[in-house]
Amino acid sequence: MNKGASGVIKRGNREKPKDVKRTLKRLWKYLFMYKWRLILAFVLTIVTNMFALIGPLLSGKAIDAIDMPVGEVVFKDVYFYAMLMVAFYIMSSIFSYLLSLLMMRIGKTIVVRMRKDAFEKIQTLPVSYFDTNLIGDILSKFSYDIDTINTSLSSDVIHICTSIITIVTSLVMMIIISPLMVLVFVFTIPLSILITRFMLKKTTPLFRRRSHTLGALGGFNEEMVTGTKTIKAYGNEEKIIKDFDKVNIEAVTAAYEAEYYGAMTGPSVNFVNNLSLSLICMLGAILKIKGIISLGDIQSFIQYSRKFSGPINEIANIFVDIQSALAASERVFALIYADSEQEDSKDAISLDNVFGNVVLKNVHFSYDESREILHNISFDAPKGKVIAIVGPTGSGKTTIVNLLMRFYDIDKGLITLDNNDIYQIKRKDLRKSYAMVLQDTWLFQGTIFENLAYGKENATKEDVIRAAKAARIHSFIERLPNGYDTVLIDGGVNISKGQKQLLTIARAMLLDAKMLILDEATSNVDTRTEIKIQEAMKNLMKDKTCFIIAHRLSTIRNADEILVIKDGNLIESGNHNTLIKQNGVYCTLYNSQFD
Ligand code: ATP
Ligand code: MG
Repeated sequence: MNKGASGVIKRGNREKPKDVKRTLKRLWKYLFMYKWRLILAFVLTIVTNMFALIGPLLSGKAIDAIDMPVGEVVFKDVYFYAMLMVAFYIMSSIFSYLLSLLMMRIGKTIVVRMRKDAFEKIQTLPVSYFDTNLIGDILSKFSYDIDTINTSLSSDVIHICTSIITIVTSLVMMIIISPLMVLVFVFTIPLSILITRFMLKKTTPLFRRRSHTLGALGGFNEEMVTGTKTIKAYGNEEKIIKDFDKVNIEAVTAAYEAEYYGAMTGPSVNFVNNLSLSLICMLGAILKIKGIISLGDIQSFIQYSRKFSGPINEIANIFVDIQSALAASERVFALIYADSEQEDSKDAISLDNVFGNVVLKNVHFSYDESREILHNISFDAPKGKVIAIVGPTGSGKTTIVNLLMRFYDIDKGLITLDNNDIYQIKRKDLRKSYAMVLQDTWLFQGTIFENLAYGKENATKEDVIRAAKAARIHSFIERLPNGYDTVLIDGGVNISKGQKQLLTIARAMLLDAKMLILDEATSNVDTRTEIKIQEAMKNLMKDKTCFIIAHRLSTIRNADEILVIKDGNLIESGNHNTLIKQNGVYCTLYNSQFD
């Protein structure tokens, strides 16, 4: 599960071939949800641009009004056209403001929706997803990638509409004014298109890489920041900085290259546009001398030609933005559309009253096909019994828990709960019937009370205190200045590891689950407290089935059944006394701890 920094980057490059069409389709689905607002935005865009596009026509008229022999200039006309222009531009600005507001809202709504979908997805993903994806990379999708999509949605969509409307209208106006001068564009437009297309081809993969390397950077940071203590203890700071430099530079280089080509597109296209401007000036002058066109018309034409080529230039820029938004969308959708845990089958059984008999029969399991981890494991865990699972590190103890909880699916064999194949039980019901305490504690920012009552709605103060007493953590909590209302900061940095474990044990005891799993749950607790907890649990767990995984064998001596796992095989089973008498692996293990 540990992936070094280099592993991260490799994965980034190994991405599957990209499917822009599919990404667009998925993006469209989100846009379509807000179709009425989008249609309104479209109408606003048309109105805004129409108002703005009348301007050049009026300015031409104003110029023609003064382009008369001196005595004949009617200043009233000039004044009229100028005022009309102002009025139209004011209207255009107001609508444009409304439009931006609307688009920002649409963008915001879609982003909220996307984050929600991504978050909900995370709740349905199988455990294996988190074993194979870096947390930092997942988090970067939530922040960087979704933000990129938002920026693009709230500005690019309007830009595209505006551009199209402007291009079409300007072209029509220019044709009306002088079809002859429009010919200039026959030469220059294809040139612009060629440049834009060339640049797009270059930038598409670059933007994808930018998103990936940023994700990798996030993953690296997350790993390193959470591992600060270990890094310091190993004196590895310098090496980490070097590694970081590598990942950082990779991310910056990818961003730079993407933006470099992106930035080149604008000026190149701009040059072509300016070229067409000088051609228009020359052609216009000739036509004016021949008396075919008026000065005002030339002026209007030039303004329309500016408007006409502006968007073409802009579209090139927008495409660059869209590239980056598409790359981001692709990553976000990879999460949103990742395979969830398989749905429960229609005839899956609901568990209303769990009794608590668990049986494993000839179970085989492998995380990946190349290596079988558990070989032919069979055992009974009857209701109310304490089953201890012991064995060397890496032998497969936690893996058994993963199978009981259906975090992973078995390859062969059968696991039953109360005589029901667990694959025929609704996952939620199955998981709810277990209370689980792991070695890695998980506490959230909130009061101790909230943390303890986490799994049980409407737990009373008395319930919580009873569980805390059993877990031998009550008196510690009482001594805190705010008692049960003490806020655990950032997952409980203000309390010790062992105390955290005790809290999670209390939390599990509070659940009404019929089965309890303790996977190294007391590994950070001193032996005396551990034994006391065991005693307390005996009461609380009277008719619950308990699975206890522990390395300290003294704590599981009283278990009803001890299973010894080695290299994925169940090699011995029985209670403490029979196993000691057998003088096998357990006996050796046990004695070695007391030598
Ligand atoms: P420990 O006492 O150290 O907790 P364990 O008995 O609980 O050890 P498991 O976690 O069950 O050991 O691991 C059993 C084997 O499965 C190990 O060899 C490990 O490398 C492998 N393994 C564990 N988790 C995964 C995973 N998510 N993907 C692939 N292999 C895994
Ligand atoms: Mg383990």
